[in-house]
Amino acid sequence: MLCSHSWAPESESQMGSLAVISPISHSEYSKAAMKILAPVLCSVLVGLLVPVKGFCQTPRDSKPLIAIFIVDGLRPDSINTLDTPTIARLRKEGVEYLNSHSIFPTVTRVNATALATGTYPVLNGIVGNSMFVSGVNQRTAFDTGDYKQLLKLEQVSGRIATVETLGEILQRNRRKLVTVSSGSTGNGFLLNPTAAHGNGIAIHGLFDPGKTAAYPKQISDAVIQRFGSPPSERDEIGLMNWTDNVLREYVLQDLLPDVVIDWEGPLDSAQHANGVGSPQAKEALHQIDQSISRTISKIEALGLLSRTDIIIGSDHGFAHNTDAVNLLDKLVTAGLKKAANSTDIILASQGQSILLYLMPEEREKLGKLVGFLQQQPSVDLIFTRNGKDGLGSVPGTFSLDLINASHPSRAADVVVSMAWTSKPNPYGVRGTQTINSNMTGRLPGVASGHGGLNPWVIHNTFLAWGADFKKQTRIDVPVSLADVTPTVLTLLGIDVDESNAGRGRILREVMKGAAAATTRKRILKTSAGSYEASLQISTAAGHDYIDTGSRQRAK
Ligand SMILES: [Zn+2]
Repeated sequence: MLCSHSWAPESESQMGSLAVISPISHSEYSKAAMKILAPVLCSVLVGLLVPVKGFCQTPRDSKPLIAIFIVDGLRPDSINTLDTPTIARLRKEGVEYLNSHSIFPTVTRVNATALATGTYPVLNGIVGNSMFVSGVNQRTAFDTGDYKQLLKLEQVSGRIATVETLGEILQRNRRKLVTVSSGSTGNGFLLNPTAAHGNGIAIHGLFDPGKTAAYPKQISDAVIQRFGSPPSERDEIGLMNWTDNVLREYVLQDLLPDVVIDWEGPLDSAQHANGVGSPQAKEALHQIDQSISRTISKIEALGLLSRTDIIIGSDHGFAHNTDAVNLLDKLVTAGLKKAANSTDIILASQGQSILLYLMPEEREKLGKLVGFLQQQPSVDLIFTRNGKDGLGSVPGTFSLDLINASHPSRAADVVVSMAWTSKPNPYGVRGTQTINSNMTGRLPGVASGHGGLNPWVIHNTFLAWGADFKKQTRIDVPVSLADVTPTVLTLLGIDVDESNAGRGRILREVMKGAAAATTRKRILKTSAGSYEASLQISTAAGHDYIDTGSRQRAK
């Protein structure tokens, strides 16, 4: 029988045999034996003056490795043994969270920053894929996918993420985070935004192609010298393969990280253009799965697999864009905004949701603006600041506090989610939605996206496999990417701030021998005139997770 942490080349028949778990695996046995023998060996070797550099300080294979793979946009119902044999195998052998949540707005950088800090936007300050900070751009929202805009944010705000990051906490505890990304440069930067200041390493081949492939600089120089320039961003699979090759042949082999985060980009854009379940999405997913398999094989070849914990997740789900609304145009036509490029109200689109920023002298318009939004059939839920008991400051709205979005200096004044259904896309995958766009009307084609509050974009992927995790277990306790950092720190024996004010929780239930937290669900309602909306929330260990939001509409 194969050891439970062996990663031999897969075949269907081997996958069957791997599901049988031995009471004590070879890896656990050798780990226990090493614990007893290591001090003895050290003293013997020191006594004999044998020159075995490094062995007695920190034997590399006695350190745990935590490897986090995020497959951008991976819906859990896209995982199967044909398209994703590796991920399907990890899911079968390890822990599957059945009730995983993308953080609203369900966009990439909000969830990437939650992952990299263990906090929600209320603390970390990255409130959207697009967001407004007047020092970065006085007239319009900026794109957090462009790392140069993030550098500007750091210049004007002092920090990009306004809370201590995983990279910083690990550095403070003499541990090392290395992140690699084939998503946007902004995404790669947000995974470890203070790497340039000596807190671990952030690698992205396209920071400045051929010149900057990583922070800090000496790592960038080493990557470029050894691996050259990556393919252009148009070749997303090529970029992922280049990036994952750097991970395998340099990061894992030479940099000896304690924690690695590998952000896999290509599925997201394949699904944006062609939809979930399309041949293009399946091909991208298959390539990603193969790359993850190669990386795990490398971990095994380095002798680390028995001490490795693997988390596989995604940042959000996806739904088919069937309708579009140009909200900006509607606000101008209604006289609520002076002109498309005026700065009285600034919109930051998240696809299926929108952040609206009112300049201070315009805040008296808030009630009128919300009333207008409630009259729009395409609008679902509306969130405003300074509410009480979950309700916002304007009738018929919820509070930004509920979605952990009340950042003191970067919060929007109003956040709007848009309409959705559970109808299938052309490939039979459920979930359709209305998006904010530069046009209004029915959308042809299969283009898809995310950003809203429907279950098809909220429900994301969260799996755990490895030395410290339960085996063959399904858990229905809610989870989000904000929970990864506190869990990783706990696995490494580092203290965690367990207050739940905007922070993720330690996933104790994923660890061997631990019981699951109980989950409560509640539904909040709000109304104003004929407008009615509801929000479903799950709670575990005092932490809220937004399940879905919807507006009551006449059938
Ligand atoms: Zn994404």
